[in-house]
Amino acid sequence: MKFGGTSVGKPERMYQVADLITRDNESKIVVLSALSGTTNALVGIGDALAKNSKEDAKTQIDKLEAHYHSFIAELVKTPAALAKAKAIVGEHFEFLNIITKISFNEALNKDILAQGELLSTKLFSTYLEEKGIDHYLLPALDFMSIDANDEPQLSAIKTKLSQLLKNHSDKKMFITQGYICRNSKGEVDNLKRGGSDYTASLIAAAIKATVCEIWTDIDGMHNNDPRIVKKTVAIEQLSFDEAAELAYFGAKILHPTCIWPAQHENVPVKLLNTMQPDAAGTVIRDEAGSEGVKAIAAKDGIIAIKIKSSRMLLAYGFLRKIFEVFEKYRTPIDMITTSEVAVSVTIDTDVNLAAIVKELEPFGTIEVDKNQTIVSIVGNKIGSSADVLSKLFDTLKPVPVSMVSYGGSPHNISLLVADQYKIQTLQLLNSGLFGLE
Ligand code: ASP
Ligand code: MG
Repeated sequence: MKFGGTSVGKPERMYQVADLITRDNESKIVVLSALSGTTNALVGIGDALAKNSKEDAKTQIDKLEAHYHSFIAELVKTPAALAKAKAIVGEHFEFLNIITKISFNEALNKDILAQGELLSTKLFSTYLEEKGIDHYLLPALDFMSIDANDEPQLSAIKTKLSQLLKNHSDKKMFITQGYICRNSKGEVDNLKRGGSDYTASLIAAAIKATVCEIWTDIDGMHNNDPRIVKKTVAIEQLSFDEAAELAYFGAKILHPTCIWPAQHENVPVKLLNTMQPDAAGTVIRDEAGSEGVKAIAAKDGIIAIKIKSSRMLLAYGFLRKIFEVFEKYRTPIDMITTSEVAVSVTIDTDVNLAAIVKELEPFGTIEVDKNQTIVSIVGNKIGSSADVLSKLFDTLKPVPVSMVSYGGSPHNISLLVADQYKIQTLQLLNSGLFGLE
C-alpha cells in the first residue's frame, strides 16, 4: 500500500492512513511519500546551497522545521510520543543545518532530498507506536538499489528484501520510505521525482504481492482530463499495456516507469482514493476487461520536426541516420509518421533542439513546429475497430490534425494538434467517444 504526499500531508490524513492499513489483518508493506510540499522545499534548499546562498538555505530550513514542529504537536498526544517525534525532527534538521556548513556537491543534494521520506515514515511510525499498532520500520536504504544506469536492480532488491522480511517474520506490517534508494556507489540516491509509486511497484514485484495499492486523492484514473472537460468517469480496468500507453500522460496519478515491475511479476495495481476508500478505483492487470476506447490524454508543449527529402525515396538506412541524431542528443522521440519522401517526429523538450536541427539539415528540408499537443486515444483493440476511427474523425471535423499515428499498437491512436486546439479536441472527443459533456 503506497500513500502519496497529500495522503500523509496533515496529521488527520495520517490518522486516516492508519485506519486504512488496519482495516484487515493481512500482511502488508506500507510505502510513504514525504509530506506534501516537503520534497519541493528540499529541492529549494539544495538549489540555494548549490548557488552558495547559505542564508537563503538556512531561512528555508528554519521554515520547514517550524512546519514539522506544528505538525507533530498535532500528530501525537502523549508526552512520550511527542518527545520522540521532537527528537526525530531535531535529528533530521540538525543534519540539514550541518550540510549548510560543509561544501556542497551532488551526492549531498541526494542526502538532502532523502530527508522527506525519512521524516514522514519515522513520524508515522511514532504515531502507530503511540496507538499500539504493531509494525516494523523497514529502512528502504537497506534494500532498494539502482545500478550505474540508475535502473532499479529487481533481483538484488528481491534478495535483500526477503532476507529482511525473514529476519522480522513475527511482524505483519512494515512501513518503508518511497523514492529513496542506494546507487551503485552505495550512496543515498532516489528514483526521481514522484518515484514512490515506483518503489511500491518494485516492492510488490520483489515479494510477488497479491496486489499493489496506490492510494492518492483521486478515485483512480479517469477517462479524460477533469480540469478540461466537465464530466469524467473513473476507468474500471486497464491492461498493463493500456496503462503504459497512458502513463506518459498521466504522470500525475501514476509515475510513468512504475508499470513494468508489477507487469513483470503480474501483480495487479489498484489506484485508490484515500478520501473515498470504498470507491472501486482503477485496477491495472494482465487483462483489459472490456473492449473499446477507455481514455483520452493529452500532452502539450510538443515540438514536431519534419524532415523532407526526395533522397528518402526508395532509400534504405535513411531513418537510422535520422534516429541517430536524436540518440546522440539523448532526446526521446514520441510520435513518428512517414510518407515516401518525408518523416515527421515529435519530441517534448527543446534542450537540444538547435543542435538536432543543425545535424538534420544535411538530410533534407527541416521544418519545426513548436507548441503542439499530442492527443492519445487509449483502449482495448481500438486499432482494429473501424467504428472508433470513423467516430474519431467525424468528431474532430472542426480541428486541424497535423499528424496521426495508428497501427503501432492495438491500444493507441495518437494525433497531433496545435496547442490552441487542445481543449477543444479533448472536449469534442469526450462527447464524441464517451457521450459525456
Ligand atoms: N517525495 C517525492 C516527490 O515529491 C517522491 C514521491 O512523492 O513520489 O517527488
Ligand atoms: Mg507523488
